[in-house]
Amino acid sequence: MYATAGDRPIVQKYGGTSVGSVERIRNIARRVAAQVAEGRKKIAIVVSAMSGETNRLVELVMQANPDATGRNYDMAIAAGEQVSVALMAAALEREGVAAKGFLAYQLGIYTDNFHAKARIKSINTASLFECWEKGEIPVIAGFQGVNEYNDITTLGRGGSDTSAVAIAVALNAAFCEINTDVDGMFTADPRVVQNAKLLSFQDFEVALEMASLGSKVLHSRCVELGAKYKMPLTVRNTFKPDDHDRTVIMSFTEKQRLEAPVVSGITVDKKVARITLDGLPTDNAFMADVFKKIAELGVNVDVIVHNKLNDESGFRLGFTLHEDEAEKTVKSLSAWTESQAAGKGIQICAEGKLAKVSAVGLGMQSHPGVASKCFEVLVANNIAIKMVSTSEIKISCVVDSSVADEAARVLHDAFIID
Ligand code: ASP
Ligand code: MG
Repeated sequence: MYATAGDRPIVQKYGGTSVGSVERIRNIARRVAAQVAEGRKKIAIVVSAMSGETNRLVELVMQANPDATGRNYDMAIAAGEQVSVALMAAALEREGVAAKGFLAYQLGIYTDNFHAKARIKSINTASLFECWEKGEIPVIAGFQGVNEYNDITTLGRGGSDTSAVAIAVALNAAFCEINTDVDGMFTADPRVVQNAKLLSFQDFEVALEMASLGSKVLHSRCVELGAKYKMPLTVRNTFKPDDHDRTVIMSFTEKQRLEAPVVSGITVDKKVARITLDGLPTDNAFMADVFKKIAELGVNVDVIVHNKLNDESGFRLGFTLHEDEAEKTVKSLSAWTESQAAGKGIQICAEGKLAKVSAVGLGMQSHPGVASKCFEVLVANNIAIKMVSTSEIKISCVVDSSVADEAARVLHDAFIID
């Protein structure tokens, strides 16, 4: 990637573990200094807070006030990045590289007003070009932005990946390099599936599915941005030599899409709960109201199953959601159904400790039989499938979380190693 970048800017993002100690920051500064010495001038560095730091700040502000306003909350939790920026710029200067640190307000990373989940609206890159003209390397705070009132905002946990990609897009960079503590994207989580393989190239569409289905390597918003603007993303391990294998996430050509494997990855999301409503009236309008109510709570529902009970007494509705949202959803749905004439007698229950295991791949679009093979493999391994959902490029099965890792292993063996 570097060889083909020419004179275009490159954005390098270093995550929390990569900048987890001063020694690590100094190692990165040495890497950047070597690149600068080789003649690469247009590098922009984006950093996260040192590992654990943002969690510590969240705890502090929650202790001060569990109902802290968005403005105070964001001002507190954005502070970790400021330290990383200064340490990185200082470390670069120690290596003989002129550097200049920028917080979001200093550069001009403008966002909307949604504290703790702000979206970037525009980025002023003028100062970055000024730095490069003077031979300086800019170091930018990830995760933070500034709104129209000059208040500090943050982009949501893990958001510094998104900062880096947005800056790369604004710069029309050659690519955005995400330096992290794993080698790249794998066919499955290597801690769970021992024979998982590194994916050298991955199409945005699959990477996006994998990111949103529970592969924890990248923030899904960052992949979304990369896909939207076709900004190639390189995921590499900070702790390995520069020529080590990595994953390049890019827009596949038509030919690459056709040649893509049926299944490229298996993901596991263990934070799944299911809510079941029994005895729903047969009138579908009521079901629409149920989902309207859930949407008003700001809860995302995932797999939905709706069927008639055997005794013809009504309908059963089941859906999955993030486990952290199950309790509040049951509470408010129960109160709401009770208050409705048509809702009396509906039984609502929640089941936790579930997981969603998914197989994702572009080739699925043109290869029938993926679902049948998936069920066959799980059944042969005595893994009960509780719910299923599919799209053009994925099939997801909800199973007990106690057997989720096993399900990932057998599916990986069947689809990827085979
Ligand atoms: N420091 C922030 C967090 O821990 C942002 C990031 O690391 O991407 O969420
Ligand atoms: Mg991160």
